[in-house]
Amino acid sequence: MSSAKEPLLKLTGITKHFKNLTAVNGINLEVQPGEKLVIIGPSGSGKSTLLRSINLLEEIDDGTITFEGHQVGYVTRLGKRHLDKPHQICALRAEIGMVFQHFHLFPHMTVLGNVMEGPLTVQKKTREEARQTAVDMLAKVGLSDKRDVFPATLSGGQKQRVAIARALAMRPKLMLFDEPTSALDPELVGEVFDTIHSLADEGMTMLIVTHHMGFARELADRVIFMESGRFLAEGTPQEFFCKSQDNERIRGFLNRLL
Ligand code: ADP
Ligand code: MG
Repeated sequence: MSSAKEPLLKLTGITKHFKNLTAVNGINLEVQPGEKLVIIGPSGSGKSTLLRSINLLEEIDDGTITFEGHQVGYVTRLGKRHLDKPHQICALRAEIGMVFQHFHLFPHMTVLGNVMEGPLTVQKKTREEARQTAVDMLAKVGLSDKRDVFPATLSGGQKQRVAIARALAMRPKLMLFDEPTSALDPELVGEVFDTIHSLADEGMTMLIVTHHMGFARELADRVIFMESGRFLAEGTPQEFFCKSQDNERIRGFLNRLL
């Protein structure tokens, strides 16, 4: 069997309704190992719902998710699709790290404790193993000196870097970033982007929702524009920003960001 070009993640027809609103509408996507994808689009276009569906934080109504060639099993019961086996949820989530706009750190734990938590409780690592992983991941995001402090004492940029370290501690194969810098003061955006950039340079596969077009241009292999639950346009940054000049909706969106 040829191993060439098997996508790490393949989505077919992903659809998610909230009552009579279709938040995600038949999304097809293949992400190759090492690929960096940036998704942009107006507020309410379904970007977060799509990321959450990939990580199984949302139960999709239609479509399939295939990770490393294994389809996550959905079954239809009473006309609604349900995940077949709960252990599949854990298995897939362990492979996919997610970073949110609002860090979601555990306030009662130190920085080190936050990063150790996943390996300890989900992966059942020993304290020593979990500690070593956490120490390594905090070094990677440049926060070794903050191990023993509580999140409340950190800047927003530092909190987000801890959140990235916490996701990395699970050794994910795919990272999802949902507007990782939009809750930050402008002067703190750079340090978070630098951290994401160094991960990208190490070959991490990633999907990033962001409104920072400079970052998209610099980092992305592919840029996708999402609107009303659908992908409206996609291409390399160069193609995308060129093409967008001909598409009034995308041009309007990009102009509003400036
Ligand atoms: P984006 O991230 O692009 O701003 P979202 O994925 O958050 O968009 O939302 C897409 C649409 O789905 C929006 O209209 C939003 O109001 C709706 N939506 C998202 N989550 C829920 C929910 N839990 N219940 C009801 N509607 C939701
Ligand atoms: Mg969102």
